[in-house]
Amino acid sequence: MSNTKWVYRFDELDAAEAYVDDSWESVRSLLGGKGANLADMTRLGIPVPPGFTVTTEACLAYLAADEQFPEGAWKEIEAALAAVESATGKRFGDAANPLLVSCRSGAKFSMPGMMDTVLNIGLNDEVAEGMVALTGDEHFVYDSYRRLIQMFGSVVLGLRDELFEHVLERARLRRGVESDTDLTVDDLRGVVEEFRGIAVRFPTEPIEQLRLATEAVFKSWNGKRAIDYRNAAGIAHDLGTAVNIQTMVFGNMGDDSATGVAMSRNATTGENEIEGDFLVNAQGEDVVAGIRPTKRMADMAAEMPELYEQFAGIARSLEAHHRNMQDMEFTVERNKLWLLQTRDGKRTAQAAVRIAVEMAEEGLIDRTEAVMRVQPDQVDFFLHPQFSPEAKKAARLLATGLNVSPGAAVGVVAFDADLAEEWAKEQNREVIMVRPETKPDDVHGMLAAKGILTSRGGRTSHAALVARQFGKPAVVGVSELQIDLQKRAMTVNEIEVEEGDWISIDGTTGEVYLGQLDSIVPDIDDPWLTKLLEWADELRRLDVRANADYPEDAERARAYGAQGIGLTRTEHMFFESERLPIVQKMIMAESPAERREALEALLPLQRSDFDGLFRAMDGLPVIIRLIDPPLHEFLPEQQALTRLLADHKIRLSHAGTIDEIDELLAKVEEEEHMLARVEALHEANPMLGTRGVRLGIMLPDLTRMQVRAIFEAACAVARDGVDVHPEVMIPLTSHVNELSRQRAALESEAKAVMEAEGIEVSYLFGTMIEIPRAALTADEIAEYAAFFSFGTNDLTQTTFGISRDDAEAGFLLAYLEEGILDDNPFATLDRNGVGKLMGQAAEAGRRVRPDIEIGICGEHGGDPRSIALCHELGLDYVSCSPFRVPIARLAAAHAAVTEEG
Ligand code: PEP
Ligand code: MG
Repeated sequence: MSNTKWVYRFDELDAAEAYVDDSWESVRSLLGGKGANLADMTRLGIPVPPGFTVTTEACLAYLAADEQFPEGAWKEIEAALAAVESATGKRFGDAANPLLVSCRSGAKFSMPGMMDTVLNIGLNDEVAEGMVALTGDEHFVYDSYRRLIQMFGSVVLGLRDELFEHVLERARLRRGVESDTDLTVDDLRGVVEEFRGIAVRFPTEPIEQLRLATEAVFKSWNGKRAIDYRNAAGIAHDLGTAVNIQTMVFGNMGDDSATGVAMSRNATTGENEIEGDFLVNAQGEDVVAGIRPTKRMADMAAEMPELYEQFAGIARSLEAHHRNMQDMEFTVERNKLWLLQTRDGKRTAQAAVRIAVEMAEEGLIDRTEAVMRVQPDQVDFFLHPQFSPEAKKAARLLATGLNVSPGAAVGVVAFDADLAEEWAKEQNREVIMVRPETKPDDVHGMLAAKGILTSRGGRTSHAALVARQFGKPAVVGVSELQIDLQKRAMTVNEIEVEEGDWISIDGTTGEVYLGQLDSIVPDIDDPWLTKLLEWADELRRLDVRANADYPEDAERARAYGAQGIGLTRTEHMFFESERLPIVQKMIMAESPAERREALEALLPLQRSDFDGLFRAMDGLPVIIRLIDPPLHEFLPEQQALTRLLADHKIRLSHAGTIDEIDELLAKVEEEEHMLARVEALHEANPMLGTRGVRLGIMLPDLTRMQVRAIFEAACAVARDGVDVHPEVMIPLTSHVNELSRQRAALESEAKAVMEAEGIEVSYLFGTMIEIPRAALTADEIAEYAAFFSFGTNDLTQTTFGISRDDAEAGFLLAYLEEGILDDNPFATLDRNGVGKLMGQAAEAGRRVRPDIEIGICGEHGGDPRSIALCHELGLDYVSCSPFRVPIARLAAAHAAVTEEG
């Protein structure tokens, strides 16, 4: 361990690369994202203030050794500091020509604002006076000095920041100014005095300041904020943070100095333009904290044109170097531009898509990489609800702020993170978290809220970054919003909104409304998304179908790119109000004639359902599943019926007129009859009872009617020139004999219809595989099935023996929390159990019938990780809800590209 190198200067990237295995991943693990990028920028010849990085290995060794620097590390820090001194010609702690440094955390993965930073290290009373003599700018020096004590106090000494803020506030009040920059030199000297009184343990020895700050950064890796963030963002806890120690450059040295944060492309829309915020005569944290209103980068182009051009050129070259959109921090010190940081920029889903597509078109990346840069779930945001124009027109617009994270959100106002979390989690309320600005401590509330609203802050504020990362609609920087945290109320343009009142925010436009607005789901007509999905289509092997019951769902699915219907649940149509009485009549029938009469009445209704579906899916396959649920689901619930009957009997005993008695008698008779049927149909475990194919065997007329309706509709639309491909699906098969019998009966019905109509349509008969026995005997079953469709909702239920209807309300949540299960098996396919059954069944099916068509239609068909498994298992298609079709298209492409490696 003793020959480990703990410190790398920014100009020692080659040595760091040699120390690890040369991969950028490993360099980032060692130096942290920020340190690696600073060294990289240094090597590219971009102006970066000299400095060095203490490695993540040093952090881990420090934490492991009870907070002791590993052997030799401190000496290496001193040597690197000496090198910086000679590079800058300044000396640390030398009043005559002082070097000041910053000390910042920098983990492998960016964790905005989660860990600590101390600026202006190296100042004490003596050095401050020396700097005044040197710069002639007493205001700047004392402003820098008070910042050091304040940051050191809160970060290193653990003092509450409000202690310092109160001192500043009092100074501003005394002077009658709003901004700290307007305080006079005397004010600032007084502030420093008072700060020293608060931070009594502030060390005056610069090297001691540096040592304690470095240790504080190391320790902040295990701070609560950082741990919470890593849990939410899925970052490992054993990476450690690097520490970057860097020469200070000052954006607060007058009007020829500035500081800013900018993205090389617009992080909200993806447009190819430099976008961000900057401030003249300010230090970095002023921009991020949103304490002063920032200016747009376009203003920099007007006010400092040469520096802006230089910055734009660097932004372009960094983008080309990283082949990705960059998020950069810069400082201008007396007309000289310095880059302090660059990293791949966080962006909205819309921006991710547009940037990926445009970079591919610019030749920066290829199409496959563009497809891989967008995560399937990001596509969901294009389908996010938006407020309908009518709802907006009718609503009261309170104010407009910055539209930093798109989507519509409606909720009650909660003014702090704890309350937002409590209301959302414990009371299931929809919450909008409203704060003046957000801090890393607020993340738990932001995650629990539907949306985020702040009165301060810019596009790069903490609220904006976090909201974008987690896909929460957010509006920030609404300056008209006056939040009174004491009164738990806010006033906007003279309207008072109390905590608990409803508001609606539109993160796409930045608008804030009073009350609850209705939202609509937009069409995905974004030209970049359309293109990206087309590229994905060229890469994927899986087809994507939709689960759709109605023609309008089918049309939407088709518009979203569905290549057919993978599941129509016919029973859904039976529940419609005008049909239910007929279905009940069919169930209650006491003679075959009575039943036939009810079925005759249902036939034309079913036929028209299928007619619409076939037309919407002209040229594509449509799987229609025959009735599946147990019949009692179509009858009134037993207890309710018993109560109703008892009530009518009581009323009958008090009835006065003949008419009343007649009417009640008829009701009582009908209800008694119905109750008897309900009792007869009662099963202790209906999900394992008379449902699926079992129903078809017990009530053959019912499924025969459905098949007749399918083929009559198919012949009718074929006559109109529609290219129709019905696929009849028999549910819940567990034994081959069930299928062979049903199929024989139903296929003869189908043939009879086609013969009578004089039309042949191409069709398939197949089955769902949703019982383990069916999966295990798939070879036998394939003899009678032209297709398999895995009903993974039931297959998961029956494989685990966990009720799909009750699980999520009960022990399953505890299982997930305690890590007994990694994932909810009803959301993501259980690879080792259910997945194994699927794999075996698919293989056995193909062995017997090589051209068998195999797909999935359970909810898993829209889940990216389950789609990857379906790809691995060699399925032909996945089928999911119309809204998940675009996500599935992209996920299927990712699966194919990942397989190619
Ligand atoms: C299934 O079981 O996965 C399925 C698609 O059928 P249902 O959800 O209708 O039972
Ligand atoms: Mg099922």
